[in-house]
Amino acid sequence: MKKHNFSAGPSILSEYTIKNSAAAVENFAGTGLSILEVSHRGKEFVAVSDEARAMVKELLEVPAGYEVVFLGGGASLQFCMIPYNLLGKKASYLDTGTWASNAIKEARLFGEVDVVASSKEANYTYIPKDYKVAEDSDYFHFTSNNTIFGTEIRYDPDMKMRMVCDMSSDIFSRPVDVSKYDVIYAGAQKNLAPAGVTLIIVREDALGRVERPIPTMLDYRTHIKKESMFNTPPVFPIFAALQTLKWYKEQGGVKAMEKKNLEKAAILYDEIDRNKLFKGTVAVEDRSIMNVCFVMNDEYKELEADFSSFATAAGMVGIKGHRSVGGFRASLYNAMPKSSVEALVACMKEFEKQH
Ligand SMILES: *Cc1c(COP(=O)(O)O)cnc(C)c1O
Repeated sequence: MKKHNFSAGPSILSEYTIKNSAAAVENFAGTGLSILEVSHRGKEFVAVSDEARAMVKELLEVPAGYEVVFLGGGASLQFCMIPYNLLGKKASYLDTGTWASNAIKEARLFGEVDVVASSKEANYTYIPKDYKVAEDSDYFHFTSNNTIFGTEIRYDPDMKMRMVCDMSSDIFSRPVDVSKYDVIYAGAQKNLAPAGVTLIIVREDALGRVERPIPTMLDYRTHIKKESMFNTPPVFPIFAALQTLKWYKEQGGVKAMEKKNLEKAAILYDEIDRNKLFKGTVAVEDRSIMNVCFVMNDEYKELEADFSSFATAAGMVGIKGHRSVGGFRASLYNAMPKSSVEALVACMKEFEKQH
């Protein structure tokens, strides 16, 4: 039976990515060796790494003065690298969920952190809107898509100071005005590649302004200078990332991805709003187009486990909600075909009919 992979991360990858990655595991670039066993300094892999960084720049129209680096350590390492490299005296953070609050916790190790607003008291079911960011902040940090709670800031805010953004779960889902940011970072395992690599886009003149000594491995300048080859990079995830980037280009780039994503999300949210068994969990205007969270309506609460089994039997994978929200979460990342969203909706309709 066809499986529909709605997992939140690691998550669905395009068939193109899987097919080319599988082929390279057997024989990489005609070398007669597996991608899993080649040197990261061989010319074939250096070409992959260069092309991947160039394609990130092309797809997101990264302006001059920015560099793209691929690092290990996940998005979570960036929670500490960002303040290590950028926080002189004070930074401002918007608290919109678990990942945002993890980032805040790390930043506090390095200086004053102003949490400009938080929706924690409402279990992060909305994005705070009325807040002021102190103009003397070194940067304003936010999480564009809250993977766990299903809210999203789907635009680039206008701020007086420079911005830093965790785009782990919605990078490449829409065009981005990179020029507004000092750093954009994203763990690969939601919209790009298997786990193991983190994409970072960093504005070079934002670096070198703090006075503290920075350990070599945690200093962005180390990795920029060595073109992500200071130490052994995650070779296979970078290869897979390049395949996904090529697939995005072939699909028409991030504008085309955004159009498809909006369409997919609308299909599912329309059904959640129509179906008497279900309801959404977050403010309608803040709904994420990547992670769609929903629960059973109060009078049907006892059907949750039944729907879960019903959906699993129909081939749905990974729709269990995060433990801090409960219910269900369907992640509709870029690689998710519309037909899978339609299959989930058909499953919800059929279940409603039976009850
Ligand atoms: C998954 C996720 C993270 C954590 O990523 P790791 O690579 O596991 O460190 C951070 N931020 C957001 C928005 C995420 O979705």
